[in-house]
Amino acid sequence: MTVSIENSLSGVRGRVSRDVPLAPRTWFRTGGPADFVFVPEDADDLASALKALPATTPITVLGACSNVIIRDGGIEGVVIRLTRGFSDIIVDGRSIVAGAAALDMTVAEHAATAGIDGLSFLAGIPGSIGGAVVMNAGAYGADLSTVLEWIDIMMPDGTLRRLAATELGFAYRHSILPTGAIVLRARLTGRSGDPGEIRAHIAEIKAAREAAQPIRARTGGSTFRNPSGEKAWALIDAAGCRGLRIGDAQISEKHCNFMLNLGAARSMDLEQLGETVRDRVRAQSGIDLHWEIKRLGRQTAENQA
Ligand SMILES: Cc1cc2nc3c(=O)[nH]c(=O)nc-3n(C[C@H](O)[C@H](O)[C@H](O)COP(=O)(O)OP(=O)(O)OC[C@H]3O[C@@H](n4cnc5c(N)ncnc54)[C@H](O)[C@@H]3O)c2cc1C
Repeated sequence: MTVSIENSLSGVRGRVSRDVPLAPRTWFRTGGPADFVFVPEDADDLASALKALPATTPITVLGACSNVIIRDGGIEGVVIRLTRGFSDIIVDGRSIVAGAAALDMTVAEHAATAGIDGLSFLAGIPGSIGGAVVMNAGAYGADLSTVLEWIDIMMPDGTLRRLAATELGFAYRHSILPTGAIVLRARLTGRSGDPGEIRAHIAEIKAAREAAQPIRARTGGSTFRNPSGEKAWALIDAAGCRGLRIGDAQISEKHCNFMLNLGAARSMDLEQLGETVRDRVRAQSGIDLHWEIKRLGRQTAENQA
């Protein structure tokens, strides 16, 4: 597999690297290496790579890694990172067309400058537009589904498709994309607003986040989805898990739906901590918490023991 991946990617223009540590790229700073990382130059380059790779090659796309645990065994196959060629932000009337690699915060700032209201919630989400579409990221009563018009995706065979927001099965922190689809760009639409007022709103959002969330810590954002009519953090708190620790993995004292890596945590510690919390919440309230954080990659032998 390794040799065939290497051969298949020999003609691409973008950067191909082997055995690439991924932990430094993740907010948690944990996890093993990728067998290969491919950073395409642009959409044509990405399409060429996908067409050249054996159809059985496992492909994983990573955004800003602010909602993932990459397991300690690393990621098999090819990890695709979208960077410069996928980060354009174009203002078009009350809409913004943003590349998948554009950061949510940067999109919010462009919207403010252009007097587009309704996208400020993105200012508090430390991910990319691609990740925001996949996770239906949101805050303060808005989420991607409330502002998205369409996305352009690339299918595993390298073909392009445009999907309307209504085709994405959006639900709370959830969307349904065709299997293996890679989000390339998204069109978001707001309403007319005053740039000064929008900027003031963004400043308020940033201050509120600073007060309520451990945003400077090694964390992965909300660990579990809020069950219907409930708050995950309140269930976790009621189950006595605030501050709970396994090794250097800890449930945040500040916001107990956030896990922290206090320094030397492994992904295994974080995952075990999450599962312990699920058990305790189930025992205390009868409610099953579901992971919001995406757990990607291979377990190590130790994980499986
Ligand atoms: C401090 C902190 C605060 C947070 N606050 C919020 C919040 O208020 N609201 C909220 O909704 N989330 C929040 N999050 C979680 C996170 O920022 C969001 O889920 C964000 O949208 C994830 O984007 P990302 O680029 O980091 O995606 P990643 O974490 O890199 O990936 C998430 C998933 O998307 C997939 N993916 C990423 N890019 C693409 C692409 N181009 N094509 C196909 N698949 C792709 C990945 O494979 C993975 O399955 C927070 C996280 C942190 C660390």
